[in-house]
Amino acid sequence: MNVKLGILTPIEVPGDVSVREFTIPPTPEKSVFADIPVDVGPQYEGQRIRKDDMYVELGGPKNKHKFELLVVRRVDEVDDGKLIIIGRDLSELEEGGSYPFAVLIEVAGRDVEREAEGVLERRIHEFWNYNEGCMHLNQRYDIWLRISKRSVRKGLTSFKYIGTALYRLYKAAFPVIEKMQLTFITEPRVVEQLYEQALKVYEIRDSRILGLRDEEVDEFYGCKLCQSFAPTHVCVITPERSANCGAITWLDARVAVKIDPKGPIFPIPKGKLIDSVKGEYEYVNEALRKASGGAIQRVCLYTAFDNPHTSCGCFECVAFYIPEVDGLGIVHRGYAGPTPIGLKFGDIADAASGGKQLAGFHGLGIVYMRSRKFLQADGGWSRVAWITSELKQRVLDAIPLDLRDKIATENEASSIEELQKFLIERSHPLAQKIKAPTTLAPTPTLAEESLKPAEAEGGAEGVAEFTLPAVPATIGGLRVILKNVRIRAERIVLKRAEERK
Ligand code: SF4
Ligand SMILES: [Zn+2]
Repeated sequence: MNVKLGILTPIEVPGDVSVREFTIPPTPEKSVFADIPVDVGPQYEGQRIRKDDMYVELGGPKNKHKFELLVVRRVDEVDDGKLIIIGRDLSELEEGGSYPFAVLIEVAGRDVEREAEGVLERRIHEFWNYNEGCMHLNQRYDIWLRISKRSVRKGLTSFKYIGTALYRLYKAAFPVIEKMQLTFITEPRVVEQLYEQALKVYEIRDSRILGLRDEEVDEFYGCKLCQSFAPTHVCVITPERSANCGAITWLDARVAVKIDPKGPIFPIPKGKLIDSVKGEYEYVNEALRKASGGAIQRVCLYTAFDNPHTSCGCFECVAFYIPEVDGLGIVHRGYAGPTPIGLKFGDIADAASGGKQLAGFHGLGIVYMRSRKFLQADGGWSRVAWITSELKQRVLDAIPLDLRDKIATENEASSIEELQKFLIERSHPLAQKIKAPTTLAPTPTLAEESLKPAEAEGGAEGVAEFTLPAVPATIGGLRVILKNVRIRAERIVLKRAEERK
């Protein structure tokens, strides 16, 4: 059967796959969600569903193929209220299973511009989470969803309920959407075929922002959408520093404030430029203070060390400081192996996320890695010592030609020793510092940075407390990772290495 299901081009749905179509019923008079078997409302935002409580998992790290995509179509191309389920419905999936999954939402309206796709799509995160027992994490090709056993027991046995809730929430929030149809896909062969097309759409969207510079615009944008999971987190979206999630560019944000002025995205006039290298702006600081409830006082946009941008949890990748080479590693969400510091993406992400401002641990969107301003205060690409091979291939054209074969991946270095050796062999700019460790740049280690100034001065008396996000150790042949280690010391003595006796 050749159904008209393509995103960019139509695809063939195998004949043995079930394709069911429904029509979203009119909104009940009693209350908007009276015909949905679970509660629907913002009180469920931020919900987590543990493995033991989940009925099924859709997408997530176990499934390579998954995505959510919202596309703007012509008015005559969308069947308003149509809901299609391709593959098994919720109750037909095996309890405890983890499945490839895709959500395709098509919208149309005379005043809905194609530029609105990114911001409308990002609201799937919020609206999906409104459904009791329906967890939604991340975005685009990284989605990780879970449905709770409790909600399925309450009657949430079909995607048509979630689709109905999404349809009504979107229509209420965006009256410009005249027509909307939704497709849920659990059939792995179909998800896989559409996956490549979805990636292409994201790429086309992202390419629109390349070339626009921070200096050329008068205002940036802030986004608070992730505060339901990370209450102090605010993204600052500039032409050259896109959102951590990678799903909202400056152009998307500009459209968002037009179509949804009361939504989570808001304009930030730049104000006085305080530091052009680090990317610190007077009004950005002010806006951050207000939007974070005072938790964040200053932010420097182009550094991972000095008052860095906060990280929520849905970042596409995370940069981490490697003190032994005074460089940075970058690991992406889909990479399951360990990094040279012995931690996996999940360990590093746990340490970095939650809206914290943690020097040396820095959530990033991939588009930012293509930016001229990419970590420019830290040395940009010349400070990157290690990157996952998949990510390196994706951004290869953004890495300066002379550095491409000097930055290691997991194929060349899986430990600190291997990394040091590789960087020296390839004459990486960091190699000089490795050969002469006493000349390492004064970038603080996490522990030193967390010390209060008085305590950091050699031999101060009093009680100091500091936190290390994660400490790997090997005990009796077992790999042990201690997370969020709090160290309390009554006396700290800091001495230069050559003074130690
Ligand atoms: S990561 Fe940032 S831009 Fe993306 S949804 Fe969250 S707060 Fe908004
Ligand atoms: Zn987030």
